[in-house]
Amino acid sequence: MSRRLFGTDGVRGILNESIDPVMAMKLSMSVCTVIGEGSNILLGRDVRLGGEILELAVTAGLLNSGCRPYIAGLTPTPALQLYISRSGGFDAGLMITASHNPPEYNGIKLIMSDGIEAPREVEEEVEEVFFDEKYKKVSWNKASTSTRIVSGVNEFYVNEVVRLVDAEKIRRKGLKVVIDAANSVGSLTLPEIVRRLGGKPIIINGNLDPFMSGREPEPTVDSLKEASSVVRELRADVGVGVDGDADRAVVIDEKGTVQWGDRTAVVITPFLREKHPELPPRVYTGISSSSFIESLLKKHEISTVWLKVGSPIIARALKNEGGLLGFEENGGIMYPVHQPVRDSGAALALMMELLAMTNKNASELYSIYPRTFMVKTKVPRGNIDLSELYMELEQRFEHGQYIRVDGLKIVMDDTWVLIRPSGTEPVIRIMVESLSKEKAEEILKTVKSIIEKVSKN
Ligand code: MG
Repeated sequence: MSRRLFGTDGVRGILNESIDPVMAMKLSMSVCTVIGEGSNILLGRDVRLGGEILELAVTAGLLNSGCRPYIAGLTPTPALQLYISRSGGFDAGLMITASHNPPEYNGIKLIMSDGIEAPREVEEEVEEVFFDEKYKKVSWNKASTSTRIVSGVNEFYVNEVVRLVDAEKIRRKGLKVVIDAANSVGSLTLPEIVRRLGGKPIIINGNLDPFMSGREPEPTVDSLKEASSVVRELRADVGVGVDGDADRAVVIDEKGTVQWGDRTAVVITPFLREKHPELPPRVYTGISSSSFIESLLKKHEISTVWLKVGSPIIARALKNEGGLLGFEENGGIMYPVHQPVRDSGAALALMMELLAMTNKNASELYSIYPRTFMVKTKVPRGNIDLSELYMELEQRFEHGQYIRVDGLKIVMDDTWVLIRPSGTEPVIRIMVESLSKEKAEEILKTVKSIIEKVSKN
C-alpha cells in the first residue's frame, strides 16, 4: 500500500470510494498527534455533499486524540486561513474541500498556525502516524465532547479585504462586477466585498448547491462561458470566477475574455510596486506560468522567481523572502500584505482598485500581454530516463535558456516550452506558448519526436 495520503494540495477522493469518515477520523487523530495534544484546531468546509459527514468524523477524531475542535462552518479557504493566522488562537486548521475537483470529490487540507498549507515535511509526519496507527487516544477520564462554534469568520474576512484598498475611490466608480461563485462558498464573501466597495454584484451560480450543478468547480474558459457572456451582455466592468473553495480567482475582462492568473499578475504587479515601495520588487510563481511575464515585469524593474509547481511552495517563499505578489496561472493570486496564500477576495478587491485608479477598461489593462498561442498536451511517462530526455532536449534547443526547478523549461525569444513529469498521473506534460502558431506546433512536434526517441533507448 502506498504510504502517501496528501497530493499537491491536501487529501482528495470520492466519498466512500477513496475517502471515507473512518479515514477522515484517523487522519484527524494523526493531525492532532503531530500538532500536539491540547491544540486548538479550526475547521471549515465548502458546500460539497459529504462535507458534514467528514466534518463530524474529523471532529470526533480530534476530540479522541485530545485536541479542541472549533467549527467555522461554510467558509472559503482563504477566510479560514486568515482567521487562523490573525486570531493567534489556533495551532492549525483543517479545511474540508476538494477545491477545483468535480462535485463527487471531497477532501481535507491541513493549514498551519501561520495560515499557510502544511509543508510536505509535516504531511509526511502525519502520514507516518496514520499508516503506522501511532495516533494518540485519550483515556476515558479525559474524553471531552467540547466543540465550539466560531461565528463571524466570513465577516472578519470581508472586513479585512475591504481594508486593503482605497474603498472611497472605488466607491466613486460604481463598478458592475459579475461573480461566478461555482455554487459554493465564494458566494458568502465575494458579493459582499463588491457591495462594500460601492459596486453592483451580479451573481451567477450563487446559490449554495451541494451538487454544484451550475458548472464544473474549476474556473476555465469552458466553465466560465456563461459568466463571460453575462459580463458582455450586461455590460459589466469585470467578472471573476472562483473554484469550489474560493481561493482561486480567474478574471474576465469587459469583453468577456477569460484572463489567466499569470496575466492578472502582470497587470496588477506594476500597480503594487507603486502602492508598496517598501516591498522587494519581486514576484514568485510556479514554473508552469508563462515565461512572457518575465520580460513584461522587467520593464517595471520587477524580477520573477521561478519555483516548483504547488501553491504552498510559492506561499512559503513569498512569506520568507518577501515580494509584491505570488501567483499561479490557474488563478491563484497571493497578496502578501494581506496574507501570502491564494485569495479570491483580495484578487477581486485589487482588480477593482486598479480599475478605479487607472480609469481604463479591464481589456485595455490586459492588452499589454501579447497575443500568443498555447498548446498543452501529455504523453505516457513509460520508463523514460528523464535526465537523458532533458539532455537531448537541451542539445536540440541549444539557443534557449534552461530552467530546471521542476522538469525542464526552455525559454527562447518568442517561445517557451515546459516538459514536466506529472505529480499525480503517470504522464509527462508538455506546454508550449509562442508568438507564432506555426512555431508552437513545430516545437511540440520536435519535443514529441525526441521523447519518442528517448523512450526507445
Ligand atoms: Mg481551491
